[in-house]
Amino acid sequence: MTRAAEPGRPGLEVLPAPGLGPGVRAWFTTRRGGVSLPPRDGLNLGAGVGDDPAAVAANRAAVADLVHAPVTWIRAVHGSTVGIVDGAGEVRPVPPAVDGRADGASDIDLLDGDPRLDALVTTTGGRALAALAADCVPVLLAGHDDAGVPRAVGAVHSGRRGVALGVVPRAVAALRALGAARVSAVVGPAICGRCYEVPEAMRAEVSAVVPETWATTRRGTPSLDLPAGVTAQLRAADVRTLDLGLCTQETPWLFSHRRLQPGGRACGVVLLDG
Ligand SMILES: [Zn+2]
Repeated sequence: MTRAAEPGRPGLEVLPAPGLGPGVRAWFTTRRGGVSLPPRDGLNLGAGVGDDPAAVAANRAAVADLVHAPVTWIRAVHGSTVGIVDGAGEVRPVPPAVDGRADGASDIDLLDGDPRLDALVTTTGGRALAALAADCVPVLLAGHDDAGVPRAVGAVHSGRRGVALGVVPRAVAALRALGAARVSAVVGPAICGRCYEVPEAMRAEVSAVVPETWATTRRGTPSLDLPAGVTAQLRAADVRTLDLGLCTQETPWLFSHRRLQPGGRACGVVLLDG
């Protein structure tokens, strides 16, 4: 996978997210482009990382311009609630019958207008969903019916806690309940298992829930492979999955929470054609 500059948008370099099927458009952003100043240069999309709010707003507007659609931005809380976005941009929790969750939130908090949760789905064309991340795993989802008609899309932020809580499988279940017979996923840039060193007890705790996360760093110390864990969850849910295989910590043109302190946030953004 190589970086691709979007034609006609100098400076805003994004990675097209392939394989999500007809009627669906999706990208992952990089650091390149945007107006944020060092150390969060340049396309920081995170509102909660201490950046100039005007810069974040300008960067988000550039992404909305790229996708030609209004964007709903997730403010991650490392939970497992799935929200559904309607045509007016309102967000509400999917009902328990949709994502199999009996303990779901009854309401969605907003912070500066962003819903505070880790997974969004929508059946509305022309309404983009964006999951922010910078080492955690951004996952973009698309669901089609048996005739290949796109029915719904989803954007998920899944870090260590999200993997253990199964936020990605919950979003997949929501897509299926919304009419998707076939679900496809792209796993975006995230910290890899050779880089994401954690205490031994943390590795034991997470890998007890999702064994595929068990890993060691290149130095031989305990680590977690979150992309492998998410990919295993997707495959177990019968989702056709593509992992871009890009490590945020090893790639200077991507934001990494561990490498850059303070740093910024990139996003995965997806929409059904309007
Ligand atoms: Zn790595």
